[in-house]
Amino acid sequence: MTTPTTTRTSRTTNWAGNLTYSSTEVVRPTTPDELVELVRTSPRIKALGSRHSFDDVADTTGTHVVLDAYEDGRPPVEVDPATGVASIAAGLRYGDVTRHVLGAGRALANLASLPHISVAGSVATATHGSGDGVGSLASAVVGVELVTGGGEVRTLRRGDADFPGAVVALGALGVVTRLELETEATFDVRQDVHLGLPWEAITSHLDEITGSAYSVSLFTDWGPDGAQQVWRKTRLAPGEEGAPGDLFGARPAATPVHMLDGIDPVHCTPQLGEAGPWNERLPHFRLDFTPSNGEELQSEYLVPREHALAGIAALRALGPRVAPLLQVSEIRTVAGDREPLWLSPFDGPTVGFHFTWKNLPDDVAALLPDVEAALAPLGARPHWGKLSHAVAAGAAPEALARLADAYPHLADFRALAERYDPAGTFRGGFVERLLAL
Ligand SMILES: Cc1cc2nc3c(=O)[nH]c(=O)nc-3n(C[C@H](O)[C@H](O)[C@H](O)COP(=O)(O)OP(=O)(O)OC[C@H]3O[C@@H](n4cnc5c(N)ncnc54)[C@H](O)[C@@H]3O)c2cc1C
Repeated sequence: MTTPTTTRTSRTTNWAGNLTYSSTEVVRPTTPDELVELVRTSPRIKALGSRHSFDDVADTTGTHVVLDAYEDGRPPVEVDPATGVASIAAGLRYGDVTRHVLGAGRALANLASLPHISVAGSVATATHGSGDGVGSLASAVVGVELVTGGGEVRTLRRGDADFPGAVVALGALGVVTRLELETEATFDVRQDVHLGLPWEAITSHLDEITGSAYSVSLFTDWGPDGAQQVWRKTRLAPGEEGAPGDLFGARPAATPVHMLDGIDPVHCTPQLGEAGPWNERLPHFRLDFTPSNGEELQSEYLVPREHALAGIAALRALGPRVAPLLQVSEIRTVAGDREPLWLSPFDGPTVGFHFTWKNLPDDVAALLPDVEAALAPLGARPHWGKLSHAVAAGAAPEALARLADAYPHLADFRALAERYDPAGTFRGGFVERLLAL
């Protein structure tokens, strides 16, 4: 008889510390049998990733299950040389997965700003990086293995009827244990930061700016000056070095920089055009350092790309109210999904307006309805894992109505959740509120 190696600890907080989860315990199963037994016997349970969401999307009043000690007997990352598909243990952090993928001579097309986040949690919330031509992290998923309510293990692949609802699923269908991701041949990237890009250049040449590199991020405080920094990640052919290139007069930074004032750029991936592998340049932050500030809150609104300039105008008008609460904002772009994913906000080319706020929860919560109202006419959707009025408990009925309208497949998703989890085991927090819409 094997001794159960599951560990149990008491309740916990999210990474930012702005949320103490309602769960009564955090359980780390180590084998498939332990996980299935846990799901079968827990009246309420929810998967928890690396806890980087700022809202209560991962919350439950029951048991939190974390897969960081889980092993299913397969290699944690396995790349099929014939198809290039990487099968990965879903609880791993991107930073761990990418080392293996690179070791196999392959690459993931896109990464978020930080490698610290779990793959399952990131995919579940449609986490994304930046790039006109690159989709969200969920868009790379071709297979999902999960333990559904009642403990059944199911595998879904692109083309299966339930697949479009099962990728960006907010943990509502079960505990995802394995994900299959598309990869491509490995490539190098150089990262150049440009300083001081005026609004006039941004509003006149936005498409050229975001299209000027594989991945482009504009950092602004919404004040009169435009973007204080533009980070450009240029994809290189083997042996190519590239050059920073002109960016409408913005000057190339002469030393490494952090996008937040007063923080050591040692936290950031190499800049100054030094070429290196994709996994050490596409994220803004290094795995061994704290990402961003650590003392912060975040929000992000995803807007159809054709409304990018109108979104910029709306947020500039709100600038004087936003600025006192802001550490920095990031404007970035995301390609539309190639296959429909029901809860993905990226059903077409998209621009993201991200806010890294000061750690002032009440002030931020008071401002968000106005930010949301300003962007609502443009079809803005809130990031599932960041703070927004619509996703918060107590959201106004019109904010919830906008959310329901923004996702035409919400009823299909609800039906899928009822099939995969008839007892409502995985409901809780925001997921409970969303499924009640
Ligand atoms: C410093 C910082 C920088 C960030 N940068 C970006 C960025 O560049 N781009 C961006 O889009 N977002 C960004 N985010 C947001 C972040 O990517 C998302 O909140 C993401 O969900 C975090 O993944 P996680 O593993 O921490 O998920 P958690 O917060 O732990 O969980 C999120 C959701 O995933 C579900 N989940 C987790 N694991 C599983 C599983 N095994 N099976 C089923 N469901 C599961 C949970 O139930 C929950 O619904 C950032 C966050 C921080 C703190």
